[in-house]
This record gives sequence, C-alpha cells and structure tokens, in this order.
Amino acid sequence: MIDTHCHLSHPNFKGKEREIVQRALEAGLYWLVIVGYDLISSKRAIAINHYHFPLAVGIHPHDTADITEKDLKTLEALAQTEDVCAIGETGLDFYRFFSPRDKQVEAFLFHLSLAQRRGIPVIIHSRGAVKEVLAILKDFANLKVVLHCFEGSKGELMEAIDRGYYIGVAGNITYSRSPVREIVKYLPVDRMLLETDSPYLAPQPFRGRNNEPTYLPYIAENVASLLDLPIEYIKETTSYNAEKLFQRCR
Ligand SMILES: [Zn+2]
Repeated sequence: MIDTHCHLSHPNFKGKEREIVQRALEAGLYWLVIVGYDLISSKRAIAINHYHFPLAVGIHPHDTADITEKDLKTLEALAQTEDVCAIGETGLDFYRFFSPRDKQVEAFLFHLSLAQRRGIPVIIHSRGAVKEVLAILKDFANLKVVLHCFEGSKGELMEAIDRGYYIGVAGNITYSRSPVREIVKYLPVDRMLLETDSPYLAPQPFRGRNNEPTYLPYIAENVASLLDLPIEYIKETTSYNAEKLFQRCR
C-alpha cells in the first residue's frame, strides 16, 4: 500500500522518522508520499528522504499570509530536486481563514502553474472552498490533480471525477458522523487514493492521537466495508493508482 499524503517532516516526528518508516514497511506499505506544507517542512522532506520516496513540496494555504516573491523562487528551486514528484500541499481554506483570501488564491495559482510547468501532479487541500477550487482549476486543463481529504458534495465529486481528478480518502472515513462515509460510495475505486495525513486525522480506534502511516490499513478496511468490496481489491487498486500518478519522477 502507498500512503499518498503524510507529513513525515512535521516536528511531531522529529528524530523518529526512521522508526516510523520501518513500522510502515512492516505494516505492508511500500511508499510514503512525503508532503511539505511550508518551505521548512518541504526542505526537511528532501533532507530526511533516505528512501527515495516520492515527495511533494508546497506552501499550505494557512501559511500564505506573509509569502514573498523570494519564497516562491525558493519553492520553484525545491521543485527541481530529485524525488519531487508533486507540488503541494497547496489549495484554499475558507473555513479557518488563517491567511487572507487574495494571498491564498495568489499562492494557489503559483503552485498550479508550477505543477503545470514541471508536468507533475498537484496535491490540493480545500476546506470550505471546493467550489472555488474547482472554478480555478478550470483554467488548468491537463493538470494531474489530487483533491486530498475530500470534503465536497456529491455534485462536486462528480465534477472532479468527470475531469479525471484523483480523490484522497483519509482517516475521517472512520469517524461515524463524517459525511465522507456517504460520499465515498459514489467514488470509483480507480480514482481513489488512500492517505493518512499524518500526524493529523488518526483513524479510529486511534482518533485524537498522533497519526502515522502504519494506520493506513484501517482506512482501507473502512473503505472496503462501506463499499462492500474485498479489502485486497481496495489495497491493490489504490496502490496502482498512486504508482501511476507518482511514478514519473522515479
Ligand atoms: Zn496534509
């Protein structure tokens, strides 16, 4: 299995990266996609990647308030590094608004054009902003898109599927009141990616604790039972999807 979204360079994991990767490999994972969320974590993702896992570099919408031209240049340079297979985490967050709207949009557009120039996928966070994200993406035809931890409506999901996007399913699928439990029933397995979003969003029965890639099989089990499909089918198909998407730089 492949965890398509984990923040292994997050300070919560500092000094423990090797043992976390070891545990993940023992749990049956063979790649982790390590996703940066600011310049520090993106640089650190490159530094700790002794495994040549696929990496993503980006600046999360929460961190775009004080973004400078120089930061964007640095990001562009990081995107040329070996093993960088995607741009992200980027996107829009109009739920918490830690950064002003115009700053978020400006940074998002930069990430999208960078992914397009590099010809690699973009990993998108959207909270309270799926409509706006889909509208902006209309101008980026042929871009390979991952909507991570998807929280949109059924209609928005259908639109994303129509356009060929991939949809990330995270640990919130295991939370009994999560709307994503209903939405996932409309998501074709050949567009599905599994992700932990470690250290956030730990699946049940670990909710509230530090999440790690080792818990990915709990997400696969939940998806399999919600869709009434064999777990091996879910594991194999989602791994195949992830390999296809992130293999280009390998
Ligand atoms: Zn994330």
